[in-house]
Amino acid sequence: MDCLFCKIVAGTIPAKALCQDEQCIAFADINPQAPTHFLVVPRQHIASLANADSNQAALLGHLLFVASEIARAKGLANGYRLVINTGPDGGQSVDHLHVHVLGGRHLTWPPG
Ligand code: AMP
Ligand code: ZN
Repeated sequence: MDCLFCKIVAGTIPAKALCQDEQCIAFADINPQAPTHFLVVPRQHIASLANADSNQAALLGHLLFVASEIARAKGLANGYRLVINTGPDGGQSVDHLHVHVLGGRHLTWPPG
C-alpha cells in the first residue's frame, strides 16, 4: 500500500522516532507548527478516525495515553493540545490515522 506513515512504520522512510511499542510509534512532525510537535501513529493502517471500528477502541485509547506520556517526558507541564484531523473538512492530508501533539507555546482557540 502506498501510504507514507506505513512506510515510516516499516522503516523504509526515516523519521525522528520518539517512542515505539507493539501498537504505535511516535515521531517528530516534519513541518512543526509549535516548538514541540510530534505525531502518534498506530502501526496498523487505519485510514482515519472515521474508519476505526469497535475492536480498535483500546488502540485509540492507547494512542492518547502514549501522547500524554511523551508530553510529560518532554516537560510540557504548562499544557499541550492533541489534534486528530479527520477527512477533507478536518484538514487531513495523510490518510493514516495520527494524533498530533502540539506544545511549547500558547495555542489559540478556535483553531483555523
Ligand atoms: P494531517 O494534515 O493531519 O494529515 O497531518 C499530516 C502531518 O504529517 C503534517 O503535519 C505533516 O507535516 C506531517 N508529515 C508529512 N510527512 C512527514 C514525514 N515524512 N515525517 C514526519 N511528518 C510528516
Ligand atoms: Zn498506512
